[in-house]
Amino acid sequence: MSAADPDLDPARDAASRALFERARAVTPGGVNSPVRAFNAVGGTPRFIRSARGAWLTDVDGQEYVDLICSWGPMLLGHAHPEVQAAVAAAVGRGTSYGAPTEPEVELAEEIVARAPVDRVRFVSSGTEATMSAIRLARGFTGRDVVVKFAGCYHGHVDSLLASAGSGLATFALPGTPGVPESSTALTLVLPYNDRAAVERAFAEHGDRIACLITEAAPGNMGVVPPEAGFNRFLADTCRRHGALFISDEVMTGFRATRQGQWGLDGAVEGWRPDLVTFGKVMGGGFPAAAFGGRADVMSQLAPEGPVYQAGTLSGNPVATTAGLTTLRLATNEVYEHVGAAAETIRNAASDALAAAGVAHVVQATGTMFSVFLTATAVRDFEGASRTDQTAYAAFFHAMLDRGVYLPPSAFEAWFLSSAHDDRAVQTVVDALPHAARAAAAAQEVA
Ligand SMILES: *Cc1c(COP(=O)(O)O)cnc(C)c1O
Repeated sequence: MSAADPDLDPARDAASRALFERARAVTPGGVNSPVRAFNAVGGTPRFIRSARGAWLTDVDGQEYVDLICSWGPMLLGHAHPEVQAAVAAAVGRGTSYGAPTEPEVELAEEIVARAPVDRVRFVSSGTEATMSAIRLARGFTGRDVVVKFAGCYHGHVDSLLASAGSGLATFALPGTPGVPESSTALTLVLPYNDRAAVERAFAEHGDRIACLITEAAPGNMGVVPPEAGFNRFLADTCRRHGALFISDEVMTGFRATRQGQWGLDGAVEGWRPDLVTFGKVMGGGFPAAAFGGRADVMSQLAPEGPVYQAGTLSGNPVATTAGLTTLRLATNEVYEHVGAAAETIRNAASDALAAAGVAHVVQATGTMFSVFLTATAVRDFEGASRTDQTAYAAFFHAMLDRGVYLPPSAFEAWFLSSAHDDRAVQTVVDALPHAARAAAAAQEVA
């Protein structure tokens, strides 16, 4: 799908293409998580050989400024020397004991100090965190119904892979084959940022609702910030009906701000979620995630309480060391740097698209942002769906050809790190006008 550019070496992705062929013979679609396959943008996914700071190097030796940062985790950039040294030392002490360790306690203390939770439990992926938080909410309340929003992704939990049924406040249908209807029959899917829909759902089903789960600021349909006061409204509505409010900060936690999205609304407005899920940045590039919250709710978890939850590698000493070292290095200056670099790129993207005559909206929350190729502000999944995916594919490949690795999907956030220095940012800024013209050309053809 890449526009043929006579200056490009046709062999520049030969090694990636060869690996992709081998990969497809032994792995479905050749990848271990679907979005990596470039299905939404066409072309061959680049196989990455190494990464340092803000840069990725692929198996053909091509270098890219990384605007994915492993889909969020690499807040300090790749191969940060202090994180590397701490991890190497941890590996030298053995990698898993199946017994408690000091780094788990230290990481839990760090999270409790920064985020609105009294206690945390570690798991190995964001999916496990949301799945466990929902089980705990159901166990705590003795109720079954879960409310979520269309366009919010909470990992591949059966009951959350649901699409809205016909009409509002009706129970959901499975979003994928393999999820039984019985798994989504207790899930209500509502439009994001829609207070009236939330009120109707609680009026109708309030005494059956165990919890409402939402991305603290959605990033998985592109960045769609909560409207002013929306998260507080959700927390208040849940409380009035005896349901728990689960804020999914797997993406935003320690990323949007030092305190996650909560630093932008809850900490300012003076409310706390009942439960919060974390992942990505808190694992420092390793498989680590967590859920936490109110002490009285968390104390219902085994072995303190009756709600069962466990994990062989949960709180793994290497992963918790990586996360702890990352969070300790994630000072206010890190967030200021990432925020400033993000602003430069946001503005440059908007200027380039405007100059090329491409309708677009740039939306941000804290240091996270997205560029939607659509004419009007996006406040929910329906709005996000109007983005021009064909134009985005052309934009994506033009950036890739000029050494910038964007998310290979029009519905994702762009992520930066403290390692994105002037050279990296300038590489992005220089590539944007070409990409904007490629997007415009794709729109003319369409
Ligand atoms: C990434 C993500 C998850 C799932 O985390 P995994 O580690 O991929 O299982 C859950 N919720 C949100 C908001 C995410 O962005």
